[in-house]
Amino acid sequence: MGRVAALVCLLLAFPGTALAQAVKVAVSIHPLALLVQEVGGDRVTVTTLLKPGVSPHGFEPSPAQVRGLSGADLFVSVGAGLDPWAERMATAVRKGRPHLILAGHVPLRGAADEPDHGEGAGHDHAEGDPHFWLDPVLVRDQVVPALAVALTQVAPGHGAEFARRAGELATRLSGLNDEIARALAPFAGGAFVAFHGPWAYFAERYGLNQVAVVEPIPGREPSARWMMQVVTAARRAGARAVLIEPQFNPRAAYTVAGQFHGRVVTVDEIGMPGTVSGASYAALMRFNTAAFVEALGP
Ligand SMILES: [Zn+2]
Repeated sequence: MGRVAALVCLLLAFPGTALAQAVKVAVSIHPLALLVQEVGGDRVTVTTLLKPGVSPHGFEPSPAQVRGLSGADLFVSVGAGLDPWAERMATAVRKGRPHLILAGHVPLRGAADEPDHGEGAGHDHAEGDPHFWLDPVLVRDQVVPALAVALTQVAPGHGAEFARRAGELATRLSGLNDEIARALAPFAGGAFVAFHGPWAYFAERYGLNQVAVVEPIPGREPSARWMMQVVTAARRAGARAVLIEPQFNPRAAYTVAGQFHGRVVTVDEIGMPGTVSGASYAALMRFNTAAFVEALGP
Protein backbone atom coordinates (compact mmCIF):
# COMPACT_ATOMS: atom_id res chain seq x y z
CA MET A 1 0.00 0.00 0.00
CA GLY A 2 2.79 2.36 0.97
CA ARG A 3 4.49 1.86 -2.40
CA VAL A 4 1.29 2.47 -4.33
CA ALA A 5 0.65 5.68 -2.37
CA ALA A 6 4.20 6.80 -3.04
CA LEU A 7 3.77 6.13 -6.77
CA VAL A 8 0.51 8.09 -6.85
CA CYS A 9 2.25 10.99 -5.11
CA LEU A 10 5.07 10.81 -7.64
CA LEU A 11 2.65 10.87 -10.56
CA LEU A 12 0.72 13.79 -9.10
CA ALA A 13 3.94 15.68 -8.56
CA PHE A 14 5.18 15.20 -12.13
CA PRO A 15 2.07 14.99 -14.31
CA GLY A 16 3.81 16.41 -17.35
CA THR A 17 6.61 13.87 -17.38
CA ALA A 18 5.64 10.55 -15.86
CA LEU A 19 2.10 10.42 -17.26
CA ALA A 20 2.34 12.29 -20.54
CA GLN A 21 5.49 11.10 -22.24
CA ALA A 22 5.26 12.49 -25.78
CA VAL A 23 4.75 10.02 -28.61
CA LYS A 24 7.86 9.98 -30.79
CA VAL A 25 6.95 10.04 -34.48
CA ALA A 26 9.43 9.88 -37.35
CA VAL A 27 8.32 10.85 -40.87
CA SER A 28 10.01 10.63 -44.24
CA ILE A 29 9.19 14.11 -45.66
CA HIS A 30 8.39 17.54 -44.20
CA PRO A 31 4.69 17.82 -45.23
CA LEU A 32 3.96 14.67 -43.22
CA ALA A 33 5.63 16.24 -40.17
CA LEU A 34 3.34 19.27 -40.51
CA LEU A 35 0.23 17.06 -40.67
CA VAL A 36 1.30 14.73 -37.84
CA GLN A 37 1.95 17.76 -35.64
CA GLU A 38 -1.52 19.14 -36.36
CA VAL A 39 -3.23 15.84 -35.52
CA GLY A 40 -0.98 15.00 -32.56
CA GLY A 41 -0.64 18.45 -31.00
CA ASP A 42 1.69 18.56 -28.02
CA ARG A 43 1.24 14.81 -27.44
CA VAL A 44 3.77 14.14 -30.22
CA THR A 45 7.32 15.09 -31.11
CA VAL A 46 8.12 14.71 -34.79
CA THR A 47 11.43 14.06 -36.53
CA THR A 48 11.83 14.41 -40.32
CA LEU A 49 14.35 12.20 -42.10
CA LEU A 50 14.63 14.13 -45.38
CA LYS A 51 16.79 17.20 -44.89
CA PRO A 52 15.68 20.62 -46.25
CA GLY A 53 16.47 21.33 -49.87
CA VAL A 54 16.90 17.66 -50.80
CA SER A 55 14.55 15.78 -53.13
CA PRO A 56 12.92 12.64 -51.70
CA HIS A 57 13.49 10.98 -55.07
CA GLY A 58 16.82 9.18 -54.85
CA PHE A 59 17.65 10.30 -51.29
CA GLU A 60 19.87 8.00 -49.19
CA PRO A 61 19.71 8.31 -45.38
CA SER A 62 22.89 8.31 -43.28
CA PRO A 63 23.68 5.34 -41.00
CA ALA A 64 22.99 7.58 -37.97
CA GLN A 65 19.52 8.38 -39.34
CA VAL A 66 18.82 4.69 -39.88
CA ARG A 67 19.82 3.89 -36.28
CA GLY A 68 17.82 6.87 -34.95
CA LEU A 69 14.66 5.54 -36.56
CA SER A 70 14.60 2.57 -34.18
CA GLY A 71 13.65 4.87 -31.28
CA ALA A 72 10.43 6.21 -32.83
CA ASP A 73 7.08 4.92 -31.54
CA LEU A 74 5.54 5.41 -34.99
CA PHE A 75 7.05 5.86 -38.45
CA VAL A 76 5.05 7.49 -41.25
CA SER A 77 6.09 7.44 -44.91
CA VAL A 78 4.44 8.16 -48.27
CA GLY A 79 5.06 4.89 -50.13
CA ALA A 80 4.28 4.13 -53.80
CA GLY A 81 7.93 4.62 -54.75
CA LEU A 82 8.32 8.18 -53.42
CA ASP A 83 10.50 7.22 -50.46
CA PRO A 84 11.66 3.60 -50.95
CA TRP A 85 14.57 4.41 -48.62
CA ALA A 86 12.01 4.78 -45.81
CA GLU A 87 10.76 1.26 -46.33
CA ARG A 88 14.33 -0.10 -46.45
CA MET A 89 15.09 1.72 -43.17
CA ALA A 90 11.98 0.33 -41.49
CA THR A 91 12.87 -3.16 -42.61
CA ALA A 92 16.42 -2.75 -41.29
CA VAL A 93 15.75 -1.36 -37.82
CA ARG A 94 12.04 -1.55 -36.91
CA LYS A 95 11.15 -5.19 -37.39
CA GLY A 96 7.38 -5.03 -37.41
CA ARG A 97 7.03 -1.96 -35.17
CA PRO A 98 4.33 0.58 -36.16
CA HIS A 99 4.89 1.95 -39.66
CA LEU A 100 2.10 3.77 -41.50
CA ILE A 101 2.60 3.79 -45.30
CA LEU A 102 0.04 6.35 -46.42
CA ALA A 103 -0.17 5.20 -50.05
CA GLY A 104 -1.98 2.13 -48.79
CA HIS A 105 -4.84 4.37 -47.61
CA VAL A 106 -5.24 6.53 -50.73
CA PRO A 107 -6.78 5.75 -54.14
CA LEU A 108 -3.70 6.37 -56.30
CA ARG A 109 -3.67 7.83 -59.79
CA GLY A 110 -1.74 6.07 -62.50
CA ALA A 111 1.86 7.20 -62.76
CA ALA A 112 2.75 10.21 -64.90
CA ASP A 113 3.67 9.68 -68.54
CA GLU A 114 7.19 8.52 -68.99
CA PRO A 115 9.57 8.71 -71.92
CA ASP A 116 10.42 5.42 -73.59
CA HIS A 117 14.16 5.65 -72.94
CA GLY A 118 16.15 3.78 -70.36
CA GLU A 119 15.20 1.97 -67.18
CA GLY A 120 15.98 2.35 -63.48
CA ALA A 121 13.32 4.97 -62.72
CA GLY A 122 13.36 6.75 -59.36
CA HIS A 123 9.71 5.83 -58.90
CA ASP A 124 8.37 2.33 -59.05
CA HIS A 125 5.72 3.36 -61.52
CA ALA A 126 3.77 0.13 -61.19
CA GLU A 127 2.51 1.47 -57.87
CA GLY A 128 0.93 4.69 -59.15
CA ASP A 129 1.60 8.39 -58.54
CA PRO A 130 2.73 9.01 -54.92
CA HIS A 131 2.17 12.81 -54.83
CA PHE A 132 -1.30 12.63 -53.24
CA TRP A 133 -0.37 14.96 -50.34
CA LEU A 134 -0.60 17.88 -52.78
CA ASP A 135 -4.40 17.43 -52.93
CA PRO A 136 -5.99 18.87 -49.74
CA VAL A 137 -9.15 16.82 -50.27
CA LEU A 138 -7.24 13.52 -50.33
CA VAL A 139 -5.35 14.72 -47.26
CA ARG A 140 -8.62 15.53 -45.49
CA ASP A 141 -10.45 12.33 -46.43
CA GLN A 142 -7.67 9.72 -46.46
CA VAL A 143 -4.42 10.93 -44.88
CA VAL A 144 -5.71 12.68 -41.75
CA PRO A 145 -8.00 9.80 -40.66
CA ALA A 146 -5.15 7.31 -41.22
CA LEU A 147 -2.83 9.46 -39.08
CA ALA A 148 -5.40 9.68 -36.27
CA VAL A 149 -5.88 5.89 -36.26
CA ALA A 150 -2.12 5.20 -36.28
CA LEU A 151 -1.44 7.69 -33.46
CA THR A 152 -4.27 6.17 -31.42
CA GLN A 153 -2.81 2.69 -31.88
CA VAL A 154 0.49 3.79 -30.31
CA ALA A 155 -1.08 6.09 -27.67
CA PRO A 156 -4.62 4.79 -27.00
CA GLY A 157 -5.05 7.04 -23.97
CA HIS A 158 -5.08 10.09 -26.25
CA GLY A 159 -7.38 8.68 -28.92
CA ALA A 160 -10.23 11.10 -28.18
CA GLU A 161 -7.86 14.06 -28.44
CA PHE A 162 -6.40 12.82 -31.75
CA ALA A 163 -9.90 12.33 -33.14
CA ARG A 164 -10.95 15.83 -32.06
CA ARG A 165 -7.84 17.42 -33.56
CA ALA A 166 -8.26 15.42 -36.78
CA GLY A 167 -11.83 16.70 -37.06
CA GLU A 168 -10.70 20.30 -36.59
CA LEU A 169 -7.96 19.84 -39.18
CA ALA A 170 -10.47 18.37 -41.63
CA THR A 171 -12.60 21.51 -41.25
CA ARG A 172 -9.57 23.72 -41.92
CA LEU A 173 -8.68 21.61 -44.98
CA SER A 174 -12.19 22.09 -46.37
CA GLY A 175 -11.69 25.83 -46.04
CA LEU A 176 -8.27 25.59 -47.67
CA ASN A 177 -9.71 23.60 -50.58
CA ASP A 178 -12.42 26.26 -51.11
CA GLU A 179 -9.79 28.99 -50.98
CA ILE A 180 -7.54 27.28 -53.58
CA ALA A 181 -10.51 26.50 -55.82
CA ARG A 182 -11.57 30.17 -55.77
CA ALA A 183 -8.01 31.38 -56.48
CA LEU A 184 -7.59 29.04 -59.46
CA ALA A 185 -11.12 29.20 -60.88
CA PRO A 186 -10.19 32.02 -63.33
CA PHE A 187 -7.52 29.73 -64.83
CA ALA A 188 -9.68 26.64 -65.46
CA GLY A 189 -8.09 24.52 -68.19
CA GLY A 190 -4.85 26.48 -67.87
CA ALA A 191 -1.91 24.55 -69.32
CA PHE A 192 1.51 24.24 -67.72
CA VAL A 193 4.66 22.15 -68.00
CA ALA A 194 5.76 20.50 -64.76
CA PHE A 195 9.33 19.70 -63.81
CA HIS A 196 9.32 16.20 -62.31
CA GLY A 197 5.54 15.93 -62.32
CA PRO A 198 4.10 16.04 -58.80
CA TRP A 199 1.02 18.10 -59.75
CA ALA A 200 -1.29 15.58 -61.38
CA TYR A 201 -3.58 15.27 -58.31
CA PHE A 202 -3.57 19.05 -57.82
CA ALA A 203 -4.29 19.71 -61.51
CA GLU A 204 -7.18 17.26 -61.54
CA ARG A 205 -8.66 18.71 -58.35
CA TYR A 206 -8.55 22.31 -59.59
CA GLY A 207 -9.20 21.84 -63.30
CA LEU A 208 -5.71 22.63 -64.61
CA ASN A 209 -3.88 20.93 -67.46
CA GLN A 210 -0.42 19.43 -66.86
CA VAL A 211 0.58 18.99 -70.50
CA ALA A 212 4.06 17.53 -70.08
CA VAL A 213 6.80 16.74 -67.60
CA VAL A 214 10.37 17.92 -68.24
CA GLU A 215 12.15 15.32 -66.11
CA PRO A 216 9.86 12.31 -65.60
CA ILE A 217 12.63 10.30 -63.96
CA PRO A 218 13.54 12.59 -61.07
CA GLY A 219 17.23 13.42 -61.01
CA ARG A 220 17.93 12.11 -64.50
CA GLU A 221 18.57 14.74 -67.15
CA PRO A 222 16.05 14.24 -69.99
CA SER A 223 17.13 13.47 -73.56
CA ALA A 224 17.07 16.17 -76.26
CA ARG A 225 14.38 14.19 -78.07
CA TRP A 226 12.16 14.14 -74.98
CA MET A 227 12.63 17.88 -74.45
CA MET A 228 11.52 18.55 -78.05
CA GLN A 229 8.38 16.48 -77.39
CA VAL A 230 7.70 18.56 -74.28
CA VAL A 231 8.12 21.80 -76.26
CA THR A 232 5.76 20.54 -78.97
CA ALA A 233 3.14 19.56 -76.39
CA ALA A 234 3.52 22.92 -74.62
CA ARG A 235 3.05 24.89 -77.85
CA ARG A 236 0.08 22.82 -78.94
CA ALA A 237 -1.68 23.26 -75.58
CA GLY A 238 -0.82 26.96 -75.29
CA ALA A 239 1.10 26.41 -72.04
CA ARG A 240 2.30 29.64 -70.46
CA ALA A 241 4.88 28.40 -67.98
CA VAL A 242 7.35 25.77 -66.88
CA LEU A 243 7.39 25.03 -63.16
CA ILE A 244 10.73 24.50 -61.44
CA GLU A 245 11.45 23.13 -57.97
CA PRO A 246 14.11 24.12 -55.43
CA GLN A 247 15.25 20.51 -54.97
CA PHE A 248 16.19 20.03 -58.64
CA ASN A 249 18.65 21.56 -61.12
CA PRO A 250 16.42 23.76 -63.31
CA ARG A 251 18.64 23.85 -66.41
CA ALA A 252 16.45 21.59 -68.57
CA ALA A 253 13.35 23.58 -67.55
CA TYR A 254 14.94 26.86 -68.72
CA THR A 255 15.91 25.23 -72.01
CA VAL A 256 12.33 24.04 -72.58
CA ALA A 257 10.79 27.37 -71.50
CA GLY A 258 13.08 29.26 -73.86
CA GLN A 259 11.84 27.15 -76.77
CA PHE A 260 8.19 28.20 -76.37
CA HIS A 261 8.74 31.57 -74.63
CA GLY A 262 7.17 30.29 -71.40
CA ARG A 263 7.77 31.89 -68.04
CA VAL A 264 9.58 29.94 -65.32
CA VAL A 265 7.90 29.79 -61.90
CA THR A 266 9.07 28.05 -58.70
CA VAL A 267 6.79 25.56 -56.98
CA ASP A 268 7.66 23.27 -54.06
CA GLU A 269 6.28 19.81 -53.27
CA ILE A 270 8.08 19.65 -49.90
CA GLY A 271 8.35 23.12 -48.35
CA MET A 272 11.40 24.49 -46.58
CA PRO A 273 11.26 24.51 -42.78
CA GLY A 274 11.90 28.05 -41.56
CA THR A 275 10.44 29.65 -44.71
CA VAL A 276 6.93 30.66 -45.75
CA SER A 277 6.35 27.46 -47.74
CA GLY A 278 7.29 25.18 -44.85
CA ALA A 279 5.49 26.76 -41.91
CA SER A 280 2.31 24.68 -42.15
CA TYR A 281 0.52 22.44 -44.62
CA ALA A 282 -1.82 25.33 -45.47
CA ALA A 283 1.18 27.63 -46.00
CA LEU A 284 2.77 25.09 -48.35
CA MET A 285 -0.41 24.84 -50.41
CA ARG A 286 -0.92 28.61 -50.45
CA PHE A 287 2.66 29.10 -51.64
CA ASN A 288 2.00 26.69 -54.51
CA THR A 289 -1.40 28.18 -55.32
CA ALA A 290 0.18 31.63 -55.62
CA ALA A 291 2.82 30.13 -57.91
CA PHE A 292 0.14 28.63 -60.15
CA VAL A 293 -1.66 31.98 -60.31
CA GLU A 294 1.63 33.56 -61.39
CA ALA A 295 2.27 30.75 -63.90
CA LEU A 296 -1.17 30.84 -65.51
CA GLY A 297 -2.08 34.50 -65.16
CA PRO A 298 -1.94 37.19 -67.85
ZN1 LIG B 1 8.05 14.25 -56.20
